[in-house]
Amino acid sequence: MGNIVAILGRPNVGKSTLFNRLVEDRQAIVDDFAGVTRDRNYGVAEWTDRKFNLIDTGGYVPGSTDVFEAAIREQVHIAMEEADVLLFLVDGKEGVHPMDREFASLIRRQPRKVLLAVNKVDEPMHNDLVYEFYELGLGDPMPVSATSGSGTGDLLDKVLELLPEDPYIDTPDLPRFAIVGRPNVGKSSFINALLDRNMNIVTPIAGTTRDSVDTRFQAFGHDLIIVDTAGLRKRAKVEENVEFYSTLRTIRAIEECNVAILLIDAVDGLMSQDMSVFSMILKSRKGVVIVVNKWDLVEKETNTSVEMERQIKERIAPFTDVPIIFTSTITKQRLLKVMEMAIQVYDNKSKKVPTSQLNDVMLDAVARHHPPATRGHLVKIKYVTQIPAANPTFLFFTNYPKDMSESYKRYLENQLRDNFNFTGVPLSLFFRKK
Ligand code: GDP
Ligand code: GDP
Repeated sequence: MGNIVAILGRPNVGKSTLFNRLVEDRQAIVDDFAGVTRDRNYGVAEWTDRKFNLIDTGGYVPGSTDVFEAAIREQVHIAMEEADVLLFLVDGKEGVHPMDREFASLIRRQPRKVLLAVNKVDEPMHNDLVYEFYELGLGDPMPVSATSGSGTGDLLDKVLELLPEDPYIDTPDLPRFAIVGRPNVGKSSFINALLDRNMNIVTPIAGTTRDSVDTRFQAFGHDLIIVDTAGLRKRAKVEENVEFYSTLRTIRAIEECNVAILLIDAVDGLMSQDMSVFSMILKSRKGVVIVVNKWDLVEKETNTSVEMERQIKERIAPFTDVPIIFTSTITKQRLLKVMEMAIQVYDNKSKKVPTSQLNDVMLDAVARHHPPATRGHLVKIKYVTQIPAANPTFLFFTNYPKDMSESYKRYLENQLRDNFNFTGVPLSLFFRKK
């Protein structure tokens, strides 16, 4: 999967309604990964087997009018630097609004691909509402209704046409690690400490994305790449946009990696912003290592790290099979351990379990603990195979795929984890009729 689409537009045109509609179906699949809270502004949309990241800029638009102009100006700039496609939304019921003209004049002067969608065209007989929006000079306006869903299929077709193909052709086979986390958790310090001492930089590679620079390393016998978001300068000048900016950069980095190294602050603990980055990683089906940094600042008693690990696992449940490492970039404690773990997670993520071995283990697990009977019939699992995919994906053949309970799916997932090392890796389980 790849790519970022940002929905732009003045308040009340229906950005968040459209966002919710477009991420809806995909979200239903992802959320069977219970415990992952749904983000208001970030989601993964799926259409005809392609997935893309969707960001709703609605939540970031400041309310007060005096900062509005500067804020939208900046937001358009950030979106055009970081997104692949801009979805510019206007309100067909209201007609062209002065603020639409303002957005449009900024958008026209930038190179990213743009789709102009006219929302609230609830009845096809009102499609002629779109004509006046030709005035904005952004090509053919497309009618949609975020509330009824009409027009969204055509819109998604168009989005897919505009999305670029492969985001990183340069170095397809090298493991890619992204260091992500809130501002000030120590991302730059972490990378600098690694660069300083322990690894050999092979070459800096000009990033596929604007001003990011990927760094190529050799460590533990691996050639690998660090996707650098640490160098994120505070680009946003209007305060409301800082979050918007760092969200886009974080999505981009996660998108471009195989394994995300999520730094959190030992003093603050796991905060809701950290959880939202964690859920982005899961939604993108990337590997993850959690790093509790600034461990030097914590006063320790016997069980401090064990207790903190327990608390973190409670929050990230049910996906708790995640390495958690306590570090300090000051004392350089366990920095290499982090990279060693990240490489292990990468290997776990690339693993292919032979079908015979998989069936031996899993059919045995099924025999020990059968799926519960539902609606009066026995549910049987006859065969399982790992299918080729970017993250480990298992297909179970059963007589009643729809009747597989959540708790039984979790049992199967835990059995996979207990028998084969998938630490740090989200697993996908699918059930088909045999
Ligand atoms: P945002 O500020 O751009 O995110 O706008 P919202 O998604 O919050 O929507 C603003 C208002 O427009 C809400 O009352 C929505 O119910 C309404 N709305 C959104 N989409 C449609 C639509 O397709 N048709 C109609 N009639 N109303 C809509
Ligand atoms: P970034 O915004 O995530 O890149 O964070 P920085 O690397 O810029 O670090 C933010 C601040 O935290 C700086 O003042 C660092 O010196 C400090 N810092 C980073 N790592 C550690 C650590 O392990 N221990 C302590 N005590 N301070 C740290």
